[in-house]
Amino acid sequence: MRAPSMDKKPTPKPWIAAIHAYVPGKSRSTDGRELVKLSANENPLGSSPAALAARADAGQPCLYPDPDSTALRERLGALYGVDPARIICGTGSGELLTISASAFAGPGDEVLYVRYGFSLYEIAARRCGATPVEAPDADYGTDVDALLALVNEKTRVIFLANPNNPTGSFMPREEVARLHAALPADVLLVMDQAYAEYVAPEDDDGALELAEKHSNILVTRTFSKAYGLAGERVGWGTGAPELIEVLNRLRGPFNVNAGAQAVAAAAVEDQSFIVHSRDHNKNERTRFVAALDALGNHGLRVLPSEANFVLVLFEGALTAEAAHDGLAQRGYATRWLPGQGLPQALRITIGTREQMDDVALILRELTEQA
Ligand SMILES: *Cc1c(COP(=O)(O)O)cnc(C)c1O
Repeated sequence: MRAPSMDKKPTPKPWIAAIHAYVPGKSRSTDGRELVKLSANENPLGSSPAALAARADAGQPCLYPDPDSTALRERLGALYGVDPARIICGTGSGELLTISASAFAGPGDEVLYVRYGFSLYEIAARRCGATPVEAPDADYGTDVDALLALVNEKTRVIFLANPNNPTGSFMPREEVARLHAALPADVLLVMDQAYAEYVAPEDDDGALELAEKHSNILVTRTFSKAYGLAGERVGWGTGAPELIEVLNRLRGPFNVNAGAQAVAAAAVEDQSFIVHSRDHNKNERTRFVAALDALGNHGLRVLPSEANFVLVLFEGALTAEAAHDGLAQRGYATRWLPGQGLPQALRITIGTREQMDDVALILRELTEQA
């Protein structure tokens, strides 16, 4: 046996030591005041009343939940015409993103995603020891050719959010198909559709159909955004049965708690809430963008968004940091992203009409004072 040595301590693996912990959207100002939270892309309309009512059906807390989220997978399968055997549920879609990197990549392998992508991808790549690789953007949007140029022998997984967070940019179906068609069959394409419910059905990016046909694509979705159930921590994914079987080995054994399964299953049945949320978001986003476009001569630029937030670039006298602080002063939490290479940008979640009118007014005053 090794001699005890008192001056040592457990040392994280170097790739774990390189991780910067995920930074969540804030809900308080630096001086501790509660703010209106437009920093985490939560649904300002709350959740479906039918979903909330289903909480009571969750069973007894002394019992473990269904380990396979069977009823929830069946309802999702019925809604999307997908065999439930091709569906996996996760503790948020975050769990599924993380395990899809761990399942297929490790030390010496590369995990690819776009610059200005979701910050969890880098964490998912690093925690399994793989090398994260960022492809250049095209004016903040996804550049398929730039991604493809970086695919090499070491590439194992590509993460792509569509719509993308934090930019809001959207890749049309032809571009998604073009990317997938050009990939080697042993590279897993993870299409993160966290905001897909906000996209008009006729503009669907086709990823679910690709996942039905091909064995190297996983589509992930979440109940955290349009469904308004971020606190329940439920997400799901679909892909080839062999892919789902591998991910099932890696997920937590009882990863979706009983209340979350019941609430999410009821939420799937209430698609009117999703339609209402999508309509509200589109109307208010359009109004908010128009109000900010009117400030264009002050150097504000709003990137086109298909999601429930917009990324605003501050290219004039008012800086993103000053706008962030000024909005916090007046009661609103937004997301300033210097840690993601975006010190010039604020991500603002689309809230209620009153909130967006107020935020547009505050931004106008701040630009005029700058
Ligand atoms: C919010 C978000 C998710 C969802 O995470 P959950 O773990 O399901 O709450 C996934 N991907 C992107 C790009 C997101 O913005």
